[in-house]
Amino acid sequence: MKNKDSGSPFALAIHGGAGTLRPERMTGERAEKYKTALREALAAGEALLKSGKSALDAVEAAVIALEDNPLFNAGKGSVFNQDGNIEMEASVMWGPIQEAGAVSLLSRVKNPVSLARAVMEHSPHVMLTGMGAEDFALKMGAEMKPPAYFHTTRRRNQWERARNSNTIHLDHDNPKGTVGAVALDKKGHLAAATSTGGMTCKLSGRMGDTPVIGAGTYAKDGCVAVSCTGHGEFFIRGIVAYDVACLIEYAGLSLEAACQRVIHEKQKTLGGMGGLIAIGSKGEIALPFNTTGMYRGWVREGEVGEVAIF
Ligand code: ASP
Repeated sequence: MKNKDSGSPFALAIHGGAGTLRPERMTGERAEKYKTALREALAAGEALLKSGKSALDAVEAAVIALEDNPLFNAGKGSVFNQDGNIEMEASVMWGPIQEAGAVSLLSRVKNPVSLARAVMEHSPHVMLTGMGAEDFALKMGAEMKPPAYFHTTRRRNQWERARNSNTIHLDHDNPKGTVGAVALDKKGHLAAATSTGGMTCKLSGRMGDTPVIGAGTYAKDGCVAVSCTGHGEFFIRGIVAYDVACLIEYAGLSLEAACQRVIHEKQKTLGGMGGLIAIGSKGEIALPFNTTGMYRGWVREGEVGEVAIF
C-alpha cells in the first residue's frame, strides 16, 4: 500500500450495463442521451480524482450520477420484479485493505451505493439485506424515497411485456442498465462500485452478482478493480470479478488477457452474457463484453474522456 501521492496518473471507467443492444434500434437522439449521461457521470468522478480525492469517493460519485438518472437500471429507473416491485442492490470495495460493503433487497433507499459504503464504514458487517438494511439506512440518515420515485413508465412497460409473454421468464437475454465504476487515484489506490435493480421479472428476493463481493465487484491495491454487468447467476457461478484478479495475481496475466479469458472464453462457455470494466494498478483499462453493447466511459489523467455504446 502506498500512503502518499505516488504521482501515478489517475484513471476512471464507468459502465451503464451490457446487453442485447441493437444499433438499428438506437436512434441518434437516444444514443446521445445515454452518452450525455455517461459523460456527466464520468465528469463527476473525474473532478474528484483531479482534486486528489480517493478512488472510493470517485466511484461513489460516478455511480450516484447514474443511479439518479432514470435511463439506467439502478436507483431511479430500476427494473420491476415479478410482483411489480423494485428491489435494488449495490456494493463497493476499497482496495488498500480490501474493505467491502454491500446491500440488497432495497426498495426505498435513493442511492444504494452510498448505503453500501456506509455498511463498509459504519457497521461491523459486509452485507445487509432487506428490512435490516433499510433500518440501517434510516439510522445512517440516508435519503429515502417512496416507491413511486423509482418507477418509470419504460420499466413498467418492460415488466408488463415480460409478464404478458406468458412468462415468468427472467429477462435473461437482455440484461442492461446496471451501473458501475472503477478507479485508480493519485495515491495508487483502487476502488470499485456497482449498483442495480437486477433483472426484469426476477423472483422476489432474488439476489444477483451485484452485491456479491468477488462476483460483481472486487478491488485490491496492486492488482485490479472490477465492476461487472450481465446475467448475474452466471457471474456468481464464475466469481467473475475475483477470477480476473486471480488470473492477474496468480497466473501473471495482463489485465487485457485476464479480462479476455474471463468474459470471452469462460463466461461465454458457461452461457453468461455480459461484460465488465476493470482498471489495473498502473492505470490500464479494459472494458470487455460478450453482448452486442455495453454503455461505458473512461478517462485517464491528462486525456479527454471517452464514451461508447457498441
Ligand atoms: N448483473 C445484474 C443482475 O444480475 C444485471 C445487469 O448487470 O444488468 O442483477
